[in-house]
Amino acid sequence: MDKVLLKALKKDAAGAFKTAGIEFIEKAEMGSFSSMKTGGFADLMVFPKDDAELLAAMRMFEAYGLKGCHVIGGGTNVLFADDKICLPVISFKKFNARIETGGGEGCEKVLQGGSGVGLSRNLNYLVKNNFGGCGFFLGHSGDLGGAVRMNAGSRESVTGNLVNKIEIITYGGKKFTVGRGRLKFSYRNMEIAGLNENCFITGVYLSLRPSSREEIMGRIGVYKGRKSSQPLGDSSLGCIFKNPSGESAGRIIEEIGFKGYSRGDAAVSQKHANFIINKGCARPGDVTSLIKIIQEKAMRARGIALNTEIKII
Ligand SMILES: Cc1cc2nc3c(=O)[nH]c(=O)nc-3n(C[C@H](O)[C@H](O)[C@H](O)COP(=O)(O)OP(=O)(O)OC[C@H]3O[C@@H](n4cnc5c(N)ncnc54)[C@H](O)[C@@H]3O)c2cc1C
Repeated sequence: MDKVLLKALKKDAAGAFKTAGIEFIEKAEMGSFSSMKTGGFADLMVFPKDDAELLAAMRMFEAYGLKGCHVIGGGTNVLFADDKICLPVISFKKFNARIETGGGEGCEKVLQGGSGVGLSRNLNYLVKNNFGGCGFFLGHSGDLGGAVRMNAGSRESVTGNLVNKIEIITYGGKKFTVGRGRLKFSYRNMEIAGLNENCFITGVYLSLRPSSREEIMGRIGVYKGRKSSQPLGDSSLGCIFKNPSGESAGRIIEEIGFKGYSRGDAAVSQKHANFIINKGCARPGDVTSLIKIIQEKAMRARGIALNTEIKII
């Protein structure tokens, strides 16, 4: 059903989105929007710049009876399947990327950022303004909204530890602010207590602690070590699997003999076995079949279920 409706919307999209001044692409090559640099096509991809354009796009989908859409930020944790994507994709690539800091409690300050703020830009801003506790953003190329949704981080800290509140727009078009008390952060996930519909994160408030330049640079130095132990220069989605409780997924994959193993141009990284890299022309199917082979072997050899951290659309 959605396929037919999307076709109808697509037919009118050029006129409708142009009139509303909202950027869009038909037949978007999704490999260009994923850090894995592979993916099929999306019939329609929309790039709202602000809340008003996002709401207008959702109203347009609703007018065509389309229930739902896919949402992406920097695309650093999303693998797009080979198949055609039959729901519109909303990209936050062009979305509000303002950053401001204002008063907080005690010596804390609150950073207010649009969801489209890139994490590396955010980190530069925080370092320049002497805020600590954010070194774990180093080497992340996603956006602020995606980092909150994924509770991105490291063993040392996660985005959820910094979040004070977020602004959201529900798929039904309701816009509100959600305080920290309702935000349930867990391992690479964030949920909103009492919210029964999907939502877009449109703005993020982080509580920040001023720190000395020496301390900040010292913490950042710790994260710079990742460059030698992780394939940060290759096309990848970061860690593919969640670490099972008390274990390291990378170590398990290495122990069961998959370091360097490949399917087509998708290969388990020699530097870090929890990364699958695209050596050039990997298809999404190469990546998913590698994931499946590893999961089956981990279960057979070690009785361990390796669950994916990445999102497959
Ligand atoms: C080289 C490399 C290293 C990495 N290292 C780490 C690491 O150390 N730790 C870590 O946790 N992650 C890591 N990642 C993964 C990734 O960078 C993070 O999860 C990142 O924060 C995701 O942000 P994004 O904007 O790219 O989200 P996307 O990949 O675009 O989306 C991820 C999920 O968030 C949802 N989403 C995105 N934006 C919004 C929004 N505005 N509103 C609602 N939902 C949204 C999407 O629907 C999807 O489900 C790494 C990735 C790479 C490529």
